[in-house]
Amino acid sequence: MNAKVWLVGAGPGDPELLTLKAVRALREADVVLIDDLVNPAVLEHCVEARVVTVGKRGGCRSTPQDFIHRLMLRYTRQGKCVVRLKGGDPCIFGRGGEEAMWLRERGVEVELVNGITAGLAGATNCAVPLTLRGVSRGVTLVTAHTQDDSRLNWRALAEGGTTLVVYMGVAKLEEIRQQLLDGGMAADMPVAMIENASLPQQRECRSELAHMHEDAQAFALKSPAILVIGRVAGSEQAAYLAAASA
Ligand code: SAH
Repeated sequence: MNAKVWLVGAGPGDPELLTLKAVRALREADVVLIDDLVNPAVLEHCVEARVVTVGKRGGCRSTPQDFIHRLMLRYTRQGKCVVRLKGGDPCIFGRGGEEAMWLRERGVEVELVNGITAGLAGATNCAVPLTLRGVSRGVTLVTAHTQDDSRLNWRALAEGGTTLVVYMGVAKLEEIRQQLLDGGMAADMPVAMIENASLPQQRECRSELAHMHEDAQAFALKSPAILVIGRVAGSEQAAYLAAASA
């Protein structure tokens, strides 16, 4: 195997949601750099890889991005095959794009492998269809968290009429609610808040836009969680799906 970096999505948590390609990469890896939110159970596919934890929860607090870049470069220069394992999909709020660019600029071969992103898994596991004929013609994935404090155009999102899937939103529920209400979204818009999607400890809290913050507090919603905001999260849609699959 030539030295290269595989930027691999490990999926939302359930190890069975790993792709076959991810499994092959893990089998071939000499080194695996494992990120936050990756279920360590997926490491059972490694044959003889050295595993390095580079996430906040791995005891390193936040490993600086620059350090991770250089670590990957160093291993490839030693001729090693590196798997950088990320939660969900590497390119959905996962820095996969920036890592791939950084490595390619330095002549490193990079291969990206999709993972199932948390938003898709969370919605599906709660019987929320993100698109549904006659109800939602699209999905928008957004993050409520930015490093530079830049603002999303919540008004455009409120008016857009697509299902919204919000990542990293738990600490910003109050702000999200206000922005969407100010943008003209209906106060009774259904919201599903899904914690630990696809894991045995998955929990879901159903609410409506106007009181999602209070409901989340009463539920003690914790990160990692995604929010699905849209008519598709309404109980009538869940009943429709249940009837359709019966
Ligand atoms: N690349 C990842 C997202 C990383 S950003 C992906 O594609 O899923 C981290 C955010 O993802 C968390 O704050 C949370 O909003 C969401 N997330 C990741 N895993 C999750 C899970 N199992 N359940 C619910 N949300 C999750």
